[in-house]
Amino acid sequence: MPDTWKLKDKNFNKYLLDKDIQTKVSELATRINIDLDGQTPLFIVVLNGAFIFASDLLKKVTIDCEIAFVKLSSYQGTQSSGVVQQIIGLDLDIKGRTIVVIEDIVDTGLTLDRFLETLRVMEPAKVLVAACLLKPDAFSSKFPIDYLCFSIPNEFVVGYGLDYDGLGRNSGDIYKIVEE
Ligand code: 5GP
Repeated sequence: MPDTWKLKDKNFNKYLLDKDIQTKVSELATRINIDLDGQTPLFIVVLNGAFIFASDLLKKVTIDCEIAFVKLSSYQGTQSSGVVQQIIGLDLDIKGRTIVVIEDIVDTGLTLDRFLETLRVMEPAKVLVAACLLKPDAFSSKFPIDYLCFSIPNEFVVGYGLDYDGLGRNSGDIYKIVEE
C-alpha cells in the first residue's frame, strides 16, 4: 500500500506496517494458546472492524475453540456518537464458558463496556478482551485489556479492518489521519 492515502475528504499517512502487526498478532496467539489451553474458549468477534484482526489471530490459535460474531456500533465518521447499539445479537448459551471478546480498537471503551455488562449477565466463567489497538488517552473505562497489540495516540486511524465512512478497511497496514 502507498505511504499516503486519500479517503473522501481526508488524508492519511502510513503508520503501522503489516509485518509489524503480524508479529504482534503472533505473540498474542502464542499467549492465548498457552493461557487458555484446555478451556475451549468462545471467541466473540466484534464486527465489522475486527474481521481482519480476528482472522489473522484465530488462524494462529491452535487450541480447541469456538467463534461467534456480534455487531456493535458507536461511531459515525471520525467521532464516537456515544450511543451504543447492538445490531446483531448473540444467540449462544455462554454460561460457565471462557469468553474472549475480539475488538479492533478500544477508544473510550464505552462500546465494549456495555457489551461486557451484557455478557456478564449471561454468567460466563470469565471474560477476556483481545484488542488490536488501544487509545489510552481516550480510554475512560475500567475493564482490563488482556491481549493488546498496540497502544496508539488519540488520533483517528484506518486500515486493517478499520474504516472512514465505509472506506479503508482493505489494507494490511494501518494509516493515521493527517490533521489539516
Ligand atoms: P469506543 O466505544 O471505545 O469509544 O469506540 C470503539 C469503536 O469505535 C471501535 O470498535 C471502532 O469501531 C470505533 N473507533 C474508535 N476509534 C477509531 C479510529 O481511530 N478509527 C476508526 N476507524 N474507528 C474507530
